[in-house]
Amino acid sequence: DTAYLNGRFLPLQEAQVPVLDRGFLFGDAVYEVIPVYDGRAYALADHIQRLGSSLRGIGLTDPLGPDGWTALVTDLIARNGNGDMAVYLQITRGAPPRRDHRPASATGPATVVGFCQTRPPVAASLLEQGVAAVVRDDTRWAHCDIKSTALLANVLLAGDAQANDANEAILVRDGRVTEGASSNVFAVSGSTLITPPLEAAILPGITRARVLALARRAAVTVAERPIPVAELHAADEIWLTSSTREIFPVTRLDGTPVGPGRPGPLWTRMRALLQADTHD
Ligand code: PLP
Repeated sequence: DTAYLNGRFLPLQEAQVPVLDRGFLFGDAVYEVIPVYDGRAYALADHIQRLGSSLRGIGLTDPLGPDGWTALVTDLIARNGNGDMAVYLQITRGAPPRRDHRPASATGPATVVGFCQTRPPVAASLLEQGVAAVVRDDTRWAHCDIKSTALLANVLLAGDAQANDANEAILVRDGRVTEGASSNVFAVSGSTLITPPLEAAILPGITRARVLALARRAAVTVAERPIPVAELHAADEIWLTSSTREIFPVTRLDGTPVGPGRPGPLWTRMRALLQADTHD
């Protein structure tokens, strides 16, 4: 496994950052995860654009720029065998000599990290039976549109879901669904596909955007509007989307079947369209 750290490539196990790094001390960092299919990064330009917007969101100068990121991602994929994988990128506000909350105290270079992880094929059982999800209060901060590595709330919510035999926590703020702890949420009501609109409480998911575009192109009725939690519980289908897990069906919510308790027909259709898109 070859990683990138501050301008050089090295084995992932040897890539180390100092204890004073602000990513370690404060979660003062942003990241991206880009899925790779047979050596090709999917929706790379969209991921790089979102990375730029996350960097702006925390007031960090982009250390590489769009062309630099594209070259780095391409290089990492090649050095890691051009197969199916996910590229992880992280930029922190660097490692100044003193721990100091104030971002202006970090005058040195940012820390730039990239590495690859295998992207295991989505389990057949997940596709045949769907997964369980639980509804939880959205305990995260107010700027979830920034893809920050400060993920403690997401980590604890993922643990809570796992402890309740669920695959994901679906989060609710002010009575409305925001997103999953590491995914975006879609609901199907009749023939309408509904997903919460983009706002500060939601990560603008790249998979979400692709699924919406594919649905519209296939003449599916799409509504980007708030989903009251009661409407989620009454949905015919619920799906989650993310770069690493693509589009997967939730068939049990808080222990109760979603619709008939099996992956639904619109999910089957959209999954096929997304598969074709990632592999074309
Ligand atoms: N929402 C959250 C909180 C996430 O962590 C993720 C990423 O996995 C997503 C949504 C999905 O975003 P994307 O489709 O860009 O991977």
